[in-house]
Amino acid sequence: MQPQSPPWRRRLGLCLVALSVGGAAWAAIALTAHAHRIAAIWLGNGLWLGIVLPRPKRRWPGLLGAGLVGNLAANLIHGDGLAVGLLLSVCNGLEVLVSALGLARPGALELHRRGPFLRFLLIAVGLSPLLAAAIASAGLYALRGQAIGQNGLTWLIADALGVALVTPLVLKIGRRRLWRAFTAAPPAKTALLFAAPIGLAMLCFWQTRYPLLFLVPPTMGLAAAELGYAATTILVPVVGVIALVATEMGRGQFHLNAALSPEERLYMLQFFLLANVLISHWTAGVAAARRKAVRDLAELAKTLRVEASVDPLTGLANRRSFDTALARELASAGAGEGPLSLLLLDLDHFKKLNDTLGHNAGDACLCRVAEVLRRASRRGTELASRYGGEEFALLLPGTDAASAQRTAEALREAIARLTDAGEDGAVPVTASIGIATLESGRSLDPGLFVASADISLYEAKRAGRNCVHAARQTSPPRLRIVR
Ligand code: GH3
Ligand code: MG
Ligand code: MG
Repeated sequence: MQPQSPPWRRRLGLCLVALSVGGAAWAAIALTAHAHRIAAIWLGNGLWLGIVLPRPKRRWPGLLGAGLVGNLAANLIHGDGLAVGLLLSVCNGLEVLVSALGLARPGALELHRRGPFLRFLLIAVGLSPLLAAAIASAGLYALRGQAIGQNGLTWLIADALGVALVTPLVLKIGRRRLWRAFTAAPPAKTALLFAAPIGLAMLCFWQTRYPLLFLVPPTMGLAAAELGYAATTILVPVVGVIALVATEMGRGQFHLNAALSPEERLYMLQFFLLANVLISHWTAGVAAARRKAVRDLAELAKTLRVEASVDPLTGLANRRSFDTALARELASAGAGEGPLSLLLLDLDHFKKLNDTLGHNAGDACLCRVAEVLRRASRRGTELASRYGGEEFALLLPGTDAASAQRTAEALREAIARLTDAGEDGAVPVTASIGIATLESGRSLDPGLFVASADISLYEAKRAGRNCVHAARQTSPPRLRIVR
């Protein structure tokens, strides 16, 4: 359960909600009403919805009530009268409530993802404003005899735009994720990508001569792709407000054609803003999905690289890693960087252990032997690997024949001691080890080097097992191996 905030804080919070929702409503009315009594964008509901949505349902009645009070106050200040004020405020509240109910599900606020964004568009930008517009325009017809079609369309577009522009930003602020807008790219790039669409929008809407408008949406798309979703939630409303204020002041791109009526200008502004929302949010979402896919692929490649090089049972390097390391170390030895020794190790009568104690006990024994080898290969370049089945290899760069012999004896004894520890009951675990050493400065084919160690291993088996045998030379072997 979330900790309850103290009552005075909740009351202060509700007052702030009433003030901000009412303030946004009043600003929308004041900004547009003097010209043609049509609000181009209704920002109050977008703000209101952004406040309600992330909060638990038990807090909704308070938040909806506070917004209603703010809305009603804005209408009354504007001189709408109590009946009309109540009608419009209740319709706004209903719009927010329907959207909040439709979006109250896990993951619905992750608007950078395609599914939640489409759901947001459908419910909060489409259906809820449509429902509220229908009821409000019917009410206005009943109370004032105003034409239903015009009022309904105005409400629908203005509210839809307000929600599309403001709610994503308020959600980001509420979830304390807005800082991501400034950390997704290096500071200079961030500054440039913020400045480009905002500067261009100011240029578009400051002057009424050059038709630069079409450059704004692609610039917004570029910023969205590079800076991500958080930056988009800032850029879309900022450019929107620039366009709105300038158009209402009689400047900018929608005044290029003096023959346009105020309503036609308004629709052009609204569809321009809608295009910005769609292009920016969509691009940010696609870019986020691509970035995530690249991250996932890199993670997968890392996992696959490990899995392709490690033996899953023992965790030692596998045969593939051994082959790679062997080729590399043979080349180093051939270049005169020191001798190279290879210990090939085969567990004795391992089949008997499996047959007597079962395969699980056999697997556990292989893991214990692997641990002994892991401990024996301490130096960075030394590589212990599972060569296959119950056979292991220890590659020892910089190790001459005498040192290799000592290491092999120590290994053999350590493995024999595993039985003393009583791990495998009645079945003794021992290993036979074959050694091959290549002197520094000499070259040899990897296959022949392994074959040389294999022949030594065969000799160790022939000598009675649980012993070490070293090849006397590293020239191509003449023996045929039958084991
Ligand atoms: P030798 O002393 O001649 O090497 O006799 P051996 O029984 O060890 O050799 P053999 O080649 O006859 O049998 C090897 C056995 O190793 C047979 C196989 O079941 C067992 N083995 C190979 N890989 C695994 C494994 O991953 N897990 C288990 N439990 N057993 C394995
Ligand atoms: Mg074997
Ligand atoms: Mg064996």
